[in-house]
Order: sequence, then C-alpha cells, then structure tokens
Amino acid sequence: MTLTVQNFVGGEWVESSTGRRFERHNPAHLSEVVATAPESSADDIDRAVSYVAEHRHEWAALAPDKRADVLIRAAAILEANAATLAEELVREEGKTLAEATIETSRTPQNLRFYAGESLRLTGETYPTGDGTLVYSSREPVGVVAAITPWNFPLNIPSRKLGPALAAGNAVVFKPSELTPVMGQRLVEALLEAGVPGGALALVHGHAEAGRALVSHRGVNAVTFTGSTAVGQAIHSAVAVDVRCQLEMGGKNAMVVLPDADIERTAGIIVKGAFGLSGQACTGTSRVIVHESVQLDLLDRVMERARSAVVGDGLTKGVTMGPLASAGQWDKYLEFLKEGDASDARLETPTKGQLLGKGYFARPAVFSDVQPHDRMAQEEIFGPVLAFLTVSSYDEAITVANDSPFGLSAGIATSDIGTALAFSRDVHAGVVKVNQSTNGMAMNAPFGGTKLSSTQTHKEQAGATMMHFYTTDKTVYFS
Ligand code: NAD
Repeated sequence: MTLTVQNFVGGEWVESSTGRRFERHNPAHLSEVVATAPESSADDIDRAVSYVAEHRHEWAALAPDKRADVLIRAAAILEANAATLAEELVREEGKTLAEATIETSRTPQNLRFYAGESLRLTGETYPTGDGTLVYSSREPVGVVAAITPWNFPLNIPSRKLGPALAAGNAVVFKPSELTPVMGQRLVEALLEAGVPGGALALVHGHAEAGRALVSHRGVNAVTFTGSTAVGQAIHSAVAVDVRCQLEMGGKNAMVVLPDADIERTAGIIVKGAFGLSGQACTGTSRVIVHESVQLDLLDRVMERARSAVVGDGLTKGVTMGPLASAGQWDKYLEFLKEGDASDARLETPTKGQLLGKGYFARPAVFSDVQPHDRMAQEEIFGPVLAFLTVSSYDEAITVANDSPFGLSAGIATSDIGTALAFSRDVHAGVVKVNQSTNGMAMNAPFGGTKLSSTQTHKEQAGATMMHFYTTDKTVYFS
C-alpha cells in the first residue's frame, strides 16, 4: 500500500504550492512505492516559517510542566503504535525489524527525557556588592529549522524536536527525502499530543527545500544532522545571527592491541561495522590492529561477516537489510572497485550483485589498507571495513588521528592505563573502551571533533543540548 504524506504548514495538512510530489521506494523491493510526498518550494518554506514565527508565542508562554505533559503524551502515542511504526520504518528505510524496534522504543524515551529538561530550565543570580540584583534567565531561541538524515529517521528528529519544543521554541522540520513517512509519524504524534500548529511545521523535499529553509530570515537556529559536505554548505549559507549546529560524518576507528580479548573484539567490530548495514554515523569503518594479532582477528571477523544473512528486514532470520538508496549502493560499489585497484585485499567474498530486486550488499572486509588510501580516509557509510596494521600503540594513535573526522573511536585492550591514555590521545568526541564505536546513551553528551561537528554547538544528546535551544538573558535590577 502506498502512503500519501503531506506537509503540515500554517496549522493544517496541505499539499505543496506547486502540487509536485516525489516517490519513496522500498529499498528491499524497488518496485514497491512506499509513499509519495510533497516537494516543497521556497514559497512553502516561507509560509511554514512565517506562520510559526508569528504564532509561536502561545507555545513559548505555556508553563514548562504543560509542555512536558505534551511531550510525554506524544511518547505514549508513539509507544502505542510502535509495532506498526517499526514495520513502516523497515519498509521505508531498509533496516531490520530488530533494529527498527530499538529505534521505535528509543524515540519515546528521548521525548520523555526532554520533557524532564523543560522543568530544569533554571537561571542564576550573581552577587554584585552594590545592591544590584543581577540574574540570568533562559529564553527559547525562536524558530528552529531541523534538517535530518534517513538512517535514524525517528530517533534523530526526536533529539531535535524534543529539546527544541521542551524549551518553548517553534520548529520547522524537514525530514530526509528518503524517509518522509517517519517524519510524518513523528509530527502526527506531537500534534495529537497537543503541540499547537503555531509551534510546529513539517516540510518535505530534497536539497532545494533544505536550502530555502536554512537561508530563510525568519529562522533563528538551524540544527542539522547529515553528511559533512551538506553541513559545510549549510554553514556557509546561514546568516551570522543564526545559531547553527551541525552533526556530520565520521570515519570511526577501532584500535586493537595484543592484550585484547580477540574473540570478543571480533564480535564488537562486526556489530560496529555491519549493524544497520554499515550505515550508522558512528559505525566502525577502520580497524587499526597490532601486527601480532592481525591474522587471528581478521579470521574471526571474516567468519562472522560471512554468516550475515542479507535480505528484506521484515524476513525472519535476516541480520542485514538493504542499503537505503541508489546513491548508497553506488558508493558501496565504488569502494569495492577502489579496493580492487589498490594494494588492499578483499577478504570476504563479496558479490556486488542485486540479490532479488533491492539494494542488497554483503559485508566487505579489506586488509592491508594503507593510512592514506581513500578507503581509510573517506566516509563510505556502507558495509565496507578497512583493516590497517600497526606495530605499536603510538603508531596506532597516529593512524587513528590521521583523519579529517573525529566522531567516535574505540580501543580493545585489557590494560586500564592504555585505555585511559587512549581516551586522552584520540581525537574523537566519543571514546569507547572494549565496546562498539556505535550505540550511545541517550542522557550523555554526544558530538564529534574536527569535521564531524560544528565546534560551537556540538551536543546531540543529553541535557547539555538544552543550551543550543535556549538563549541566556542577563538582567540588572536596581
Ligand atoms: P545528507 O547530508 O545527504 O542529507 C541530510 C539532510 O540534508 C536531508 O534532509 C537532505 O534533504 C538535506 N539537504 C541536502 N542538501 C541540503 C542543502 N544544501 N541545504 C540544506 N539541506 C540539505 O545526509 P544523508 O545521506 O541523509 O545521511 C547520511 C549522512 O549523515 C552520513 O554522512 C552520516 O555520517 C551522517 N550522520 C551523522 C550523524 C551524527 O550524529 N554525526 C548521525 C546520522 C547520520
């Protein structure tokens, strides 16, 4: 069944002003149209932003506990529909049902977490000595533009819309063009729970819609998660008085030292590299392994990688769903060719064939990759893992840090001193010890260094994120 999703603009569900629509196909069955969605024009964006800019004060003026109640209700609505939602997520995005179920349970938890944060938006008083009362209070920033990718189409938007709304902002949300249904479902739940139409708009579309949104003069803050290339374009496009938070790509490394538990580490690496079909921003894409354990680790990783069951994420027993799009598929094939052309060796028998009629890719593991190979430097965002061999801890750190990205990094070792040294030495926003580079706690700060995040506002989880969505006002009172 093809779903027809709409924009939510000016407090009502509407078509785009041009009437243009685009289709989203199931990446596991390319002939199946999962949904059609409006292609928003600059006019649609203008109407969406102008309306919430004019009407946002009703939501901002609501008592924090009332805003919290609304977010908690939205969480309950999503939970009540979790089973249907998870199936829709698999059909639209491609991940397995098990992965989708984790996402549909994490999303309501995020909303509840930020409901709590709305009650904790306190100010401070400052002693002056001259009788002046100086205090600060926190106000919503205003209109927030939220632009999101397809790989966690509920979880990531809930970590933007949740805190933005909790702080009393209005939001104009543009989900990825690959996941319009999930965007619609999140907005439906928030509206049903009681977010007023003056505080929330949904605009579907591609890059053109995103460009119109980030450069609209009615927007006060832009929060974006996606590729580094698009993040850089947004950074150049936003005006100097617009807050900008960018969460971008990664090239996450797992360092494996001789004193690691190699069997356990192989499992950690395979989960990090091939979970979500290699399409997690914090997924493991480089293994930097000491030469003394390289062969043993490679054998064990390959054994697991070979046993991956690739197919439609709704089919029982499938452990890896398809890639999400033609673009993802092309990039996967490009890097298989890149590996062939270099001195790296393909260890897993990967066939680049379309199994059935979807973007099905098998895990690929390349060994003997060199630090400056494209395979070791560029984000692939697919199930392609590069093994790089080193002969010391110091060399491992040099190779790990030789990257334009700094999102997540892991180390496998049984020595606590080495683990602590690594957590200091590695250039990454998140460090994992004897754990996969992906999988984050919802209540801890999350963000990268270097080209993985804007360094002015980088938190994408936890309570510190509320700073992005509020502005401090300082009052001097005599
Ligand atoms: P993308 O950058 O292609 O698109 C992201 C969003 O930006 C989409 O909604 C898209 O329509 C919009 N967009 C595209 N061009 C735009 C423009 N010029 N102006 C404004 N908006 C524009 O990314 P994607 O393919 O959807 O997602 C994959 C990328 O996201 C990977 O690079 C991955 O690492 C990254 N990612 C990062 C994190 C993180 O937390 N760091 C999390 C998930 C995904």
